[in-house]
Amino acid sequence: MMNTAYIALGSNQGDRSGYLCKAVEEIGRHEQITVEKESSIYETDPVGFTEQDRFLNMVIKVKTRLAPVDLLKVLQGFEHFFGRERVIRWGPRTLDLDILLYNQENIETEELIVPHPRMWERAFVFIPLMEIAESKELPVEINRKELLARQDREGVHVWKPKSGGDVSELTES
Ligand code: ATP
Ligand code: MG
Ligand code: MG
Repeated sequence: MMNTAYIALGSNQGDRSGYLCKAVEEIGRHEQITVEKESSIYETDPVGFTEQDRFLNMVIKVKTRLAPVDLLKVLQGFEHFFGRERVIRWGPRTLDLDILLYNQENIETEELIVPHPRMWERAFVFIPLMEIAESKELPVEINRKELLARQDREGVHVWKPKSGGDVSELTES
């Protein structure tokens, strides 16, 4: 499995942690994907469309043989399988699976943009990402200290620490 990808998971409908855990399990069961790392699960206030329930969010690191667009197709299949219906943009969902990073590649097609265009504005994405990604895997312009010092982390709290993990660096304010 030669490629490294980071995937963001989010859910704010139904059995939120169940969706995240089952999604990680199913992703890992795919023949051409291995899950290498899992972040803690965070509970976060909704952004964008704010009249909805809180989200649970996490990030995983995977190794894969799939090309980026094929990985996206697989993830969309899982979103569908777990009952996601697209009703309101940025609205409630059982499961959202976004590709954050794919190696160090910059991809810009109609269906896929990587790095994910909104990831650095979203504390609910970059906090779990920083927990498991090494600095050398991030785009060169990204400074982890600056990101973690930002003020917009308030709505993001550890909900279930990753096993054996120390998240104090990310949660102390
Ligand atoms: P956001 O992209 O702001 O997080 P969202 O995740 O709610 O919003 P979706 O409805 O899940 O948006 O996806 C809309 C479209 O985004 C998908 O059909 C997909 O083709 C496209 N897309 C572009 N780049 C990515 C990416 N890096 N990961 C996942 N989907 C992407
Ligand atoms: Mg999303
Ligand atoms: Mg999405």
